[in-house]
Parts: sequence; structure tokens; C-alpha cells
Amino acid sequence: MTIHSRWSVPIPRCSLQQWIFGSACGPVSDHKAFIDPDNPDTNFLTMANYRLLAKRVALGLRKAGLKRGDRVLIFSGNSLIFPCVFLGVLMAGGIVSGANPAFVPRELAYQLKDSEASFLFVAAPSITTAFAAAAEAGLPRDHIFVLGNDTLPVPHLALFAQPAPGVKGRIDGARHWTELLAGNRLEAVSWSWQEPDNPEETTCCLNYSSGTTGVPKGVEISHHSYVANGVGVVHINRLRPDFAEKIQNDRGLAFLPFYHAYGQTYFIANLPHLGVPVYVMPAFDFLKMLAHIQRFRITTLPVVPPIVVRLAKDPNTKDYDLSSLESIGSGAAPLTREVCEEVERRFPGRDMYVRQGWGMTEVTCTAMSWDPTRVGPSAGVGELLPNCSARLMSLDGQTPVTKAGERGELWVTGPTLMRRYWRKPEATSDAIVVDADGTRWLKTGDVAFVDRYQPGAIFHVVDRVKELIKVKGNQVAPAELEGLLLESPDVADAAVIGVTIRGEELPRAYVVRKPGSKASENDIARWLRDKVAAYKHLRGGVVFVDQIPKNPSGKILRKVLRERAQNEVSDG
Ligand code: AMP
Repeated sequence: MTIHSRWSVPIPRCSLQQWIFGSACGPVSDHKAFIDPDNPDTNFLTMANYRLLAKRVALGLRKAGLKRGDRVLIFSGNSLIFPCVFLGVLMAGGIVSGANPAFVPRELAYQLKDSEASFLFVAAPSITTAFAAAAEAGLPRDHIFVLGNDTLPVPHLALFAQPAPGVKGRIDGARHWTELLAGNRLEAVSWSWQEPDNPEETTCCLNYSSGTTGVPKGVEISHHSYVANGVGVVHINRLRPDFAEKIQNDRGLAFLPFYHAYGQTYFIANLPHLGVPVYVMPAFDFLKMLAHIQRFRITTLPVVPPIVVRLAKDPNTKDYDLSSLESIGSGAAPLTREVCEEVERRFPGRDMYVRQGWGMTEVTCTAMSWDPTRVGPSAGVGELLPNCSARLMSLDGQTPVTKAGERGELWVTGPTLMRRYWRKPEATSDAIVVDADGTRWLKTGDVAFVDRYQPGAIFHVVDRVKELIKVKGNQVAPAELEGLLLESPDVADAAVIGVTIRGEELPRAYVVRKPGSKASENDIARWLRDKVAAYKHLRGGVVFVDQIPKNPSGKILRKVLRERAQNEVSDG
């Protein structure tokens, strides 16, 4: 049985940049869009600067040879420039792919090769990784643009005409990003990007996700889907009582990474569309986060569960005035109601609730969230965003679940659904079921139940039947780690699953050693260490076994291993 959203909202047929800025050349607001919280008075970009800089990046990229549909990777932590590069690529007709700044060269090279990226933007501190990855992927150095040192105060627009202090011209063959701006300021003022003829079929974004199975894949999100996501989120936001007044005082704090759909959609697109200033943190820092909330009277705080846990448990929290916060929204991984309540108790006498939403890279970002007019504590991940629909299905995909409270695999559809996995038709048809009336349904691999079968139903996500492991909101694909373990001279077979230790999900490997191997558990963990980013390390442990449990067709029985792991860790 299908559950529809309570709201059906028109979606403008336009590019993401058109939706954010309204027009390429007309008047655009002069209020602050992005602010450096460490230098708020000197280092900021207004909406007009944001649009103009993005247009200049677009012109520079076209001159550098970018063609329509070319992929551009951004490998950087958050900065004021990141959104300008993101939008610049789109305005030039390109496709942005965000890469986790924690990546080691092998991981970055994989994404460069898989997406066949034409250009790479890299934050200065990661240049060595970028060079190594580019060499492996065959990307010429002069197609690498270095994003200065964006944590330095950037004395406003004048500086954008030349490289930042200390960075002179080429850097070992790579170019400073400001080269893209050379001599194009006047041209950019009157330049208009070309709107896509068909926003539904024009990809703007290629973030990477392993989906329900296998290695990370490029998720093709169209301009239309990105706009539809924004329209849905903005619609919910507008339901707030006294919206017109409240929006004037709204302020966002961005530490969620811009390379991921969550940080990207919220801070690069949705808040600027609403005219809400965003304070940009280059990386997450708990105490700085508390200080910024207090100093800048931050109102909206999207977070991931470990941050909610810190807000609940860290004694420093009580030393800061967090009374400006109107909402804390958590997504990307499960969160218990008890922890939410601990945080809510820090706001006595106030309607301040920790709400969970649900989303997935394959549906642009958020698909479930809370109607802000509902008061009271909330269990579950809220209701469907405008224009989205969902079903719960038996795990074999054959029978719809129809009873409230009964569990099933969550299938979702709507205008935010990805076009496909990049150049992976088989993975696409495994992930998307097309029903008799032509509707495309994404099999999410999450297990959920609903409180009723009606529009406005509240969803509860209770389990995962996909391989994916989530470490602090970051995706870890077991298939990637298993592939690397199998390259070890000591490993005959391996399986990686997630295990929850002290509330944190961590990767744990079950390994069959090759005959004669004397490798220890530590040796196996060490084998992976320099091949993957730190959050993928086997912090959930390594266990030697005689055999990996598999079904007759050779598929790893992950459920068996997950249960075994959970017993092992609780036994001590
Ligand atoms: P990503 O594509 O990186 O955003 O990861 C999407 C996955 O994160 C979902 O399919 C879920 O498994 C998990 N997830 C997202 N939000 C929640 C939530 N509120 N509760 C439980 N799991 C979640």
C-alpha cells in the first residue's frame, strides 16, 4: 500500500542556480550568504558576491576547456569558496562530484577514474594526496585547481583577482583557483548561464554512495531533483508559525561536510535560497560549535547522531548559552529517543525538540522530516516530504506490508529520485524497481514501520538490510574493505560488517587466513590502515574464523555475522 505525502507542491522547471539566485543578471540581495565565524566582519560573501564569483568560476572553467556534462571533483573541507566553485561548475554546464577530504590517494583516484573527472579542485593542505591520485588517474596537473588557504581571512573581493598571500602562480604544475577569475569580472556581470532544456534529464551532481550493495557508485542527481529537494524542505520550513518574521533572524552553522548530500543541499542551496546566512566551519569542532551558537545566535542546527550524543553528555554544553536554537535536526544514522530527551532537558520550559529526518544520497538528500507545527517530543523520522511517496515491502520485494507497526523494507519514489548510477546500468536496475504504472521505486535497504497507512504517517527506521556501515554519518562500503583485505598475502577470505560498540557503529572484519599465515589481528588491521581514510579503519575489531558463512550462491550471510558480532562484543 502506497503512502503519499500530505503535500503536493509545484516544482519550477529550472536549473539549481536559477532556483537559488532567481536570475543570472537581475538584482540579487546584498545580505550575507556565507560568513567565516572566525573573522565575521571581514571575511564573508554576500548573495551578490556568491553569484558573481560562481559566474566567474564558470567563465574561467569554460576557458580552461570544461565542456557540458564534464565532471569536476571537489576535494576540500568546508570553506566560503566551496559553494562558489560548486555553483560555478553548474553554471558552466558541468557536474559536481564531492569527495571526502579524509580520503587517501587510492580512494580519491578511484573517484577520479570512475567519474572520469576533467578537473579537480583541492584544498591546499591536501595537495600531496591530490597529486598522487591525479597521477594514478592520469589527470594532468594543470587541471588541478588549488583552493588557496581558505581558512586565512580573505579580505573581500579585491583579493579574488589574484592568488592568496603566499601562493604564487603555479604550484608544482597545479593552478591556484583564482587563475579562473583572471580578467573576467566585467564580462561575468552581464553573463548568463544557459538554462538546461530538460532539467529532469540534466545531471548536476554525482556524489558517491554504495547504495544497498557493492562499492561506491556515482549517484546521478538532476537539476530538477535538486530543486525538488529544496522546494520540499523550504515548504516544510514555511509552515513554521510566524515564518516571515522568524526567517529574518535565522542563522545556520555549517560543519556538516559540503561534499555530502546533507551539507550540500542544506547549506549551498536551501538556506541561500531562503536568504538565511550560513556560518561556515572548515571542520567539526565541538567547543567551537558551542561558542559559535552562542556568539552568532544560531537558530538551525542540522547534525549527525554523535553530535547529539555529545550535546547530551559533554559537561561543557552547560557553559554555553544555546537558547537561540530553534531546532536540532539529526539524520544520516540511527539515534535513540533517550539521547534526544537528554538534550531536550537542557532547554527547560521551551518547545525545543531534537527531530530526526531520514534521507539517502539516492533521493538527493532528505525524504522524511517533521512538520514544525507539531509540538511535543517525537519518535521516528517524521513524515514524507512534499511530492514523495513510500511503500513498505516484504524483504523478498513481493508483498506489500499493510499493517501499522509491521516492519518492511522501505521503498521510496518522487521527483528527488536519482536518475541512475553513473555508468552502472546493472546496479541501477538492482536498486530501482519500475512498477506496472511506470513509477520508479528505490529499494532503500532500510527497514521501517509506520504508525498508520495515511498521508502524514510517521515513519520509524529500525534496521538495515543493506551492506552499508555508517561511521559518524560517513559511508563505509564493506565490499571496498573486503576487496582490499583479499589483496593481502595473508588473507584467503574476508567479510566486513558493522558492529555497535558503546553506541557507535564500527567496521569489524571476519578473516580466514591463508594456510601457514602467522599474521595477527593487528597485522590485518594494519594492512588496511594506509589504504583507506581513518573512519574506515577496522576499529570494530578483526576476528579469525575457519570459514565465512555464505549461501549456496556464494553471498556472504551478513545477518549471521552481524548477530555473532553483537554477541561477541556484548560478551566482553
Ligand atoms: P547517505 O546516502 O550517506 O545519506 O546514507 C543513507 C543511509 O543512512 C540510509 O539509507 C540509512 O541507512 C541511514 N540513515 C539516514 N538517516 C537515518 C535515520 N534517521 N535513522 C537511521 N538511519 C538513517
